[in-house]
Amino acid sequence: MKKEKDKSKSEELTSKQRISLEKYFVRMAQEMGLQGWRYTFIDERCGENAYAEIRGNPDGLREANVLFCQEWRTLDRDRRRHVIVHELFHCHLSMIDNHADTLEDSLGALVWHHWARAFAMSVEQAVDHMARTFGPLIDDSDFANLLPEEY
Ligand SMILES: [Zn+2]
Repeated sequence: MKKEKDKSKSEELTSKQRISLEKYFVRMAQEMGLQGWRYTFIDERCGENAYAEIRGNPDGLREANVLFCQEWRTLDRDRRRHVIVHELFHCHLSMIDNHADTLEDSLGALVWHHWARAFAMSVEQAVDHMARTFGPLIDDSDFANLLPEEY
């Protein structure tokens, strides 16, 4: 039992690695036109099948919580970069998400459930497509050292 616990602990990022990753994230946000946003990096479990998550502020302010999942470490540098760009595109669409959330009372719970699921999947596909298409065009050469090949 203790061995398993030690193993999972060793898979977590060190504080130095986490700080470097957070700096990279903020620099990439600036490159993507997200100046003025405030990010809080929280150490919490992510949803299944996720490498990272971003949770916007429901009040529509330029604030978001960022989570890097345990599986993050299994990614190579290009995939890590892609995931960060993907999460940052979610910030660009956060106002749309917030407006969509206001429809729950109007649509009713049953319709809302199906509509929200389809909406979330559509946003997810659009965000990922934008990250694949535009992510490689973003020049991170000035701060690429903050996102190392290996941890
Ligand atoms: Zn996403």
